[in-house]
Amino acid sequence: MILFKKVNDLRNYLDTLSISGKTTGFVPTMGALHAGHISLAETCKKENDITVSSIFVNPAQFNDPLDFEKYPITIEKDIATLEKAGCDVLFLPTIKEIYPTGLQQSPHYDLGYLETILEGKFRPGHYQGVCRVMERLLEIVRPHQIYLGQKDFQQCMVISLLVEIMGLRDKIKINICPTLREPDGLAMSSRNVRLNKESREKASTIFQVLQYIKDNNGIKDPTNLKKEAGDRLASKGFKVDYIEISDASTLQPLQNWDKKKHSVILIAAFLNDVRLIDNLFIPAA
Ligand code: AMP
Repeated sequence: MILFKKVNDLRNYLDTLSISGKTTGFVPTMGALHAGHISLAETCKKENDITVSSIFVNPAQFNDPLDFEKYPITIEKDIATLEKAGCDVLFLPTIKEIYPTGLQQSPHYDLGYLETILEGKFRPGHYQGVCRVMERLLEIVRPHQIYLGQKDFQQCMVISLLVEIMGLRDKIKINICPTLREPDGLAMSSRNVRLNKESREKASTIFQVLQYIKDNNGIKDPTNLKKEAGDRLASKGFKVDYIEISDASTLQPLQNWDKKKHSVILIAAFLNDVRLIDNLFIPAA
């Protein structure tokens, strides 16, 4: 695995590969890697000549400065893990390398409705920051395919829209990979290491209520199911941001189950100061 810290060095290297007709797959991350990240890299490796991954904790996407400050960093371990997974190129830029003119002046991305709901609503500015870093990374890496986790369902939709806004829809294939979970169902996340022992034990309740709602789709009324789920999470000490049942292609909330449509159940909740998100997809019948 070759490690690059400078945009120009990475670009020169990738240019030589693209001249020889190699395909490039890209797995962007913020590090503190777990098996979920690695599954993306492994899939990427199978489907491309060159697998490029990046580790960059993007300050522009943290609406909460404390969350940024406490974001786990395990760089040495990450490098070894990616190398073992067969990653070919790791891009490890500094903030200055990604934002040479500083963080202040940011472009505005028109994300419409997507930015007013769920994560967009509860984390103002977050998706603007995600778009900002992704636009830059896509311009630098110029991949044929990118690999994203379904764990961040709404983010996948935002990045898809960004690729469209950038006019790259025909050039970049977006692959959405399944969420990897711990044995008790908790979605793997870099933030999980911040859960104390008691919180870690409670954390799988999110997956349990997602599963409960999914099992009752078409049986119980969505409003009642959301209320039941909220009560159960609150009784375990969660502070819920949202529990929503939505049309999976638009993220519009569903008032009633519609088996002809793919739907998705999405939850965001805090356990102490750790914010967890998860979702379950329900395919159309
Ligand atoms: P992050 O480092 O949190 O920015 O995540 C980098 C990529 O890994 C994103 O596309 C995430 O959606 C994906 N990812 C995060 N957690 C998981 C998981 N548990 N399973 C699969 N992919 C994941």
